Amino acid sequence: MTADSITTGQNGSSNGSSNGHANGTPRTKICVYCGSSGGNDAEHMETARELARVMAENDIDLVYGGGTVGLMGEVAKTLCELKGPEAVHGIIPEALVKYERNNTYQTINVNNQYVPTESTYGRTTVVKDMHTRKKLMAEEVFAGGPGSGFLALSGGYGTVEELFETVTWNQLGIHKRGICLLNINGYWDGIVQWVDKAVEQGFVKLPNKDILVTATTAEDAILALMNYQVSEGTFKLEWGSQ
Ligand code: AMP
Repeated sequence: MTADSITTGQNGSSNGSSNGHANGTPRTKICVYCGSSGGNDAEHMETARELARVMAENDIDLVYGGGTVGLMGEVAKTLCELKGPEAVHGIIPEALVKYERNNTYQTINVNNQYVPTESTYGRTTVVKDMHTRKKLMAEEVFAGGPGSGFLALSGGYGTVEELFETVTWNQLGIHKRGICLLNINGYWDGIVQWVDKAVEQGFVKLPNKDILVTATTAEDAILALMNYQVSEGTFKLEWGSQ
């Protein structure tokens, strides 16, 4: 926890979950980007639950945007039910609390006042802005164990923005973690076609097409992150030392 953030969790604890296994290997963390809405096709919500089930089976922790609504609330709640609150860490900007957390879960950042026990959606960190949210989410994945990565379920502008920032960070050599698009009922076909077009037209290098991998089931998405290969076309830069 930093001065710019406050974290609450089960029993109001302010620290993170155990970040590693007893043998010293860090726990696998997947950052899920997804809609703050549930979508009109029930398959989107069902896939959010299925993803949580597969993560639970594989003992993988969730880092997410910290909302209780839409797909993001569903994946967090389901994993929490299966593995307990320590398996889920939500990171949300203060300004979004009233939009993305339902009433019951909004008192998290009131100083010295009632802090609810959050066994439903895991630990929550409230931060000052969007940039801090994205940075903290990404840093948890960077520090995670084998198979840690980023995964996008269906979503809107916010999901696409977060997904493609993570893709560009990979292309720039800022990180080497996998990024997978879980394409339900062709929802992301337009994005997949655009990537093909960008390669064809010379705006994305061919090897960099595979920075973003796709899957059609939750199980295959987890496998894709486990087997992820860094593209040969990424920049070989030492960020922070130039
Ligand atoms: P959406 O896919 O539009 O429902 O948004 C999904 C999530 O992305 C929501 O939690 C938004 O708060 C978040 N989001 C939207 N825009 C941004 C942004 N520029 N940076 C980080 N998160 C964002």
